[in-house]
Amino acid sequence: MASSDVINPATGEVVRRVGLASLEETDAAIARAQAAFPAWKAVAPGDRARLLRRFADAVDGAVEELAALEVLNAGHTIGNARWEAGNVRDVLHYYSAAPERLFGRQIPVAGGLDVTFQEPLGVVGVIVPWNFPMPIAGWGFAPALAAGNTVVLKPAELTPLTALRLAELAREAGIPEDVFQVLPGAGPVVGQRFVTHPAVRKVVFTGSTRVGKQVMAGCADQVKRVTLELGGKSANIVFADADLEQAAATAPYGVFDNAGQDCCARSRILVQASVYDRFMELLEPAVKGVVVGAPGDEATEMGPLISAAHLAKVSSYVPDDAPVAFRGSAPDGPGFWFPPTVLAPVRPDDPAAVDEIFGPVVAVLPFADEDEAVRLANAGDFGLSGSIWTRDVGRALRVSRGVEAGNLSVNSHSSVRYWTPFGGFKQSGLGRELGPDALGPFTETKNVFIAH
Ligand code: NAD
Repeated sequence: MASSDVINPATGEVVRRVGLASLEETDAAIARAQAAFPAWKAVAPGDRARLLRRFADAVDGAVEELAALEVLNAGHTIGNARWEAGNVRDVLHYYSAAPERLFGRQIPVAGGLDVTFQEPLGVVGVIVPWNFPMPIAGWGFAPALAAGNTVVLKPAELTPLTALRLAELAREAGIPEDVFQVLPGAGPVVGQRFVTHPAVRKVVFTGSTRVGKQVMAGCADQVKRVTLELGGKSANIVFADADLEQAAATAPYGVFDNAGQDCCARSRILVQASVYDRFMELLEPAVKGVVVGAPGDEATEMGPLISAAHLAKVSSYVPDDAPVAFRGSAPDGPGFWFPPTVLAPVRPDDPAAVDEIFGPVVAVLPFADEDEAVRLANAGDFGLSGSIWTRDVGRALRVSRGVEAGNLSVNSHSSVRYWTPFGGFKQSGLGRELGPDALGPFTETKNVFIAH
C-alpha cells in the first residue's frame, strides 16, 4: 500500500506514516458500505439514536486525546482543537435525535391513502479538507448516519489522524465497522472514486471551489446528489457608528483564527472612510498583540500554516512592495510560520482583495456609504460569511439583507452553531450543513398511494 508522511506543521517533523488507499481498496470499502446499508437502514430508530449517543459519549471521553492529536497534525491551538473535538460530540448528540423524528407525512387524497417516507440514500462519500479535519467530518457523517446511510469518509492527505481515531471511537461505541469507514488517500483517487462509483449515492464535499466544481461536474453524470462547502472571501464591514473599540479588538480573531485557514475568515475589512484612521489606530495593537507560537501552549492564539507549499502560496500575496500597514510576529522556524499581516489600503481589484488567501493576511478597504459597502462586500464569486458592525438596527438589517452570503453576524464574528444552518451563496457552495436543514438532503422522499 502506498503511504505518505504526516507532518507536524509547527516543527516540520514527521509524526507518522499513513497508508493511502488505492482504487481497488476504495472500491472494496464502497462495496462493504453498500453491503452494510440494508441492515443499518433497518435498525430501529431508537437503537440507531442510542448508538449515535454512545458514539458522542465516546468522543466526549476522548476530547483531550483528539485535541492533542490535532495540535500535532494540523498545528491547531489547543483551545481551538478542544472546541473542534467537542463540536463533533455536539453534532453527534444533535443528530442522534433525528432517527426518532425523521418521518414522512400523510396527505389527504380521494380514493385511498397517500403517505410519504423519508428514506436513506445508501452509501454517502464524505470528502474533508485539511483546515478543520474534525468538525467538517462530523458535519457530514453525523446527519448521514442518523438518516440511515452508510458512510465512507476521506480525510485530507495532510490531516488524516483525528478522522482515523474517530472511526475507532465509532466502533468502540458499537457502530458496525462497515457502516462508518475512514479511508485516507489521494483526492484524485479516493475522492474521485466517490464521484464515479455508482453505489455512492451522494457526495459531501468540503474544499476549494476549484475541486468542488470538478466534483459537481462529475456527479452530474449519474445525477448524483452533492453538497458543496467551498471557499470564501468574507467581508467584515465596519460602519462609523459602530463600537469601534470592540470591532477593532475582535477583528484579528475574525480573520487570523486558525491562522486564517478558515473558510469563514473575514479576510477583507471594509471600513467607513470617516473612521478609517481611528479604526486603523485601534487595530494595530490588536494585531500586534496576537500571541503566535507553539500550538500546544494554552496562551497561544495562532499557530503555523499547514505546509511548506501553503506557506509559499500565502507569502506570494505579500511581495516586498505590498502595502503592509503593520503586522504581528511569528517564530522563524522550523515549521511553517507567517505573521498576522494587515494590508492597507488595498484596491478592490488587487488579488489580495479578491482571492481566498487562506492565511493570516487581511486586506483593508475604505468605503463611503452603505451602498458602496454592500457593493464591495458582494464583489467576487464567493458568498460564505461576513460581519457587520453598527449600532443602527435598521442598517444592520438592510445590510444583512443586501450582502449575498450564507452566514452573517452583526457585532460579532461567530459563524458556526451546530443547530443553525451553515453554507454558502454563489461559488461558496451548494446546500446547507448543520441545523435541521441538513437532514433532508440525506434522504429521498418517497410517495406511496394505496387505493381503498
Ligand atoms: P482541496 O479542494 O484541495 O481538497 C479538499 C479535499 O478534496 C481533500 O480531501 C482532497 O484530497 C480532495 N480532493 C482533491 N482532489 C479531488 C478530486 N479530484 N476529486 C475528489 N476529491 C478531491 O481543499 P483544501 O486545500 O484541502 O481545503 C481548503 C479549501 O476548503 C478552502 O478553499 C476553504 O475555503 C475550503 N473550505 C470550505 C469550508 C466550507 O464549509 N465552506 C470549510 C472548510 C474549508
